[in-house]
Amino acid sequence: MSIADAVRISDDLRRIVGPGRVLDAHSDLAVFECDAFVIEKHCPNVAVFPETTAEVAAIVKLCNKYRIPFVPRGAGTSLAGGGLPVGGGVMIIFTRMRAILEVNLHNRYAIVEPGVVNASLNKHLVGTGFHYAPDPSSQGACTIGGNVATNAGGPHTLKYGVTVNHVLGVEIVTAAGDIVQIGGPAEDSPGPDLAGTIVGGEGTLGIVTKVWVRLTRTPQGVRTMLAVFDSIDDATQAISGIIGAGIIPAALEMMDQGILVAVEQAFGFGFPLDAEAILLIEVDGLEVALDVERDQVTTICSNHGAREVRFAATAKERLQLWKARKQAFGAIGRLSPSYCTQDGVVPRTKLPHILQRIRAIGEKYSLRIVNVFHAGDGNLHPILLFDERNAGEIKRVLDASYEILDECLACGGSVTGEHGIGLEKLSFMNKMFTDDDLDVMTRFRDALNPDGQLSPGKLLPTAGACGMEQVHPGRRAAL
Ligand SMILES: Cc1cc2nc3c(=O)[nH]c(=O)nc-3n(C[C@H](O)[C@H](O)[C@H](O)COP(=O)(O)OP(=O)(O)OC[C@H]3O[C@@H](n4cnc5c(N)ncnc54)[C@H](O)[C@@H]3O)c2cc1C
Repeated sequence: MSIADAVRISDDLRRIVGPGRVLDAHSDLAVFECDAFVIEKHCPNVAVFPETTAEVAAIVKLCNKYRIPFVPRGAGTSLAGGGLPVGGGVMIIFTRMRAILEVNLHNRYAIVEPGVVNASLNKHLVGTGFHYAPDPSSQGACTIGGNVATNAGGPHTLKYGVTVNHVLGVEIVTAAGDIVQIGGPAEDSPGPDLAGTIVGGEGTLGIVTKVWVRLTRTPQGVRTMLAVFDSIDDATQAISGIIGAGIIPAALEMMDQGILVAVEQAFGFGFPLDAEAILLIEVDGLEVALDVERDQVTTICSNHGAREVRFAATAKERLQLWKARKQAFGAIGRLSPSYCTQDGVVPRTKLPHILQRIRAIGEKYSLRIVNVFHAGDGNLHPILLFDERNAGEIKRVLDASYEILDECLACGGSVTGEHGIGLEKLSFMNKMFTDDDLDVMTRFRDALNPDGQLSPGKLLPTAGACGMEQVHPGRRAAL
C-alpha cells in the first residue's frame, strides 16, 4: 500500500467513523504488528475502530474502492497469527462494538456484538440460571467475534461442545460490504448450515457484526477434583479410564510438571512440585448423582496410580483451581521471555505416545517444552519456550513445532483443535487435505470473498502451493 493510498484512506475512514477512531502513525500501529503468535509480524497501514454495523459496511466498501486488503481483529489473542494483516492494509478492530444487545431467557439466546469479551457475557448472566458454555482459557480477554471466527473451544467443551454448537445465527458484512443475516433466534433455519460455515471461517468468509448465541442452563451442581500423578503415562491412562467408563466430565484438563512449577511460583496454590502431572477434573449435573460420579472418578484415578485426589470443598477453592489452569499461560513469563503454543489433536488413546514424542522432540531441538491442555479432547497444547531475540532458537521452535504436528497427523489427529490455521499452519493444509478438498474449500471461499481482499493469506494455501508455504513474513521475530 503506497503512502499516498494510506493517507487518502485514513482521511476517508475519519469521515466514516470520526477523527478519534482511526490510527495511522507507525508508533500507534506497532502494537497491532502481531497477536499471541509472536513469531510473525505484519503491521497494518491503518487501524479503524467501528461502533456500528453500518460503519463496518462503509469501511469495507471504501477498502474495495481503493482495492486495499482488510482484516477483522478482536482482542488479538489468536495463537495462529489469524488476525495479522498479511502484506499490510486496513485492520478493523472490534473492541468498541461490545454491547450485549438482548438476553432472552425464555428462548435461551442472547444477541451480542462481536467485541463482547467472552467472560463479560457470563458475568452479565450471573444469577439468571443460564450461561454461555464455550470458555476458552483466554476468556478474560478474547471476544465472541474472534471465538466465532476460530470456532473456539475451551476446558468445558469436552461435554458442551465448541462455539459452533452455541451459535444460532450471525449478522455479517460481506467482502463486498453488504449486510446479511444468516440464522437467528430460532433453533433451526432451513437449507445448508451457512451460519455453521461462517463459524471457523477465520474471518475469510465475512465480517461478523452480531451473534445470536445459545444460552445453556447452568448445572445444578458441580464437583471439581485435582488428581496428582507421579507419572504422565498413568495420568493419560486415567483419562482413557474415565471416558471408557462412560463418564463425560464437564472438563478434563492436564498440566505437566514444567507448567506446574511456573503456576506454583506465580500463585502459590500449594501444588506438589514433584508430581509429573495433575489432572483437573470437573463433573456437573444433577446434585443427586454428583457424589457418586466424583467417587467413580476418584477410584479410576487411584486405580491408575494417582498419588492423591483433592476436592474443591468450596466455590472459592473451585475458582482457585480454575484460576491455576486458566492463568497458567500468564505464569509462563516466569520461565522464558517468549513462548509458542501449539494446538495439535490426537485420539485420546495416543496421549501417552504423543507426550513421549513431544519430550523427545524437545530434547532433539534443545528446547524446553511444557504442557497444559484439554486432555479429555486429546487436544494438546505443547508450549515451546524461547527468546524471540534469538533467531536460531526461533528456527528450532518452528522445526520442533512442525515435527510435533506431523506426529499428530501420523497418529490420525489434526494440526488444530481450536486455535485455527491462521497463517501459521497454512503449509499443513496440503498435508491434511487432498487437492480436490482444497479446491472445493477455495471455491467456496472465493464465492464469498471473490477478490481475496478480506483476510488474505489465511486458512487456505495459495492455489498450487505445496510443502512449506511461506507467507511473506512482514517481519519475523529476531529479524
Ligand atoms: C492464554 C491463551 C489461552 C487460550 N486458550 C484458548 C482456548 O482454551 N480455546 C481456544 O479455542 N482458543 C484459545 N486461545 C486462542 C484465542 O484466544 C482464540 O482463538 C480466540 O477465539 C481469539 O479471539 P480474539 O478476540 O482474540 O480474536 P483475534 O485474535 O483478534 O482474531 C482471531 C481470528 O478471528 C478473526 N476475527 C476476529 N474478529 C472477527 C469478526 N468480528 N469477524 C470475523 N472474523 C473475526 C480474525 O481475523 C482472526 O482470524 C488462547 C489464547 C491465549 C493467548
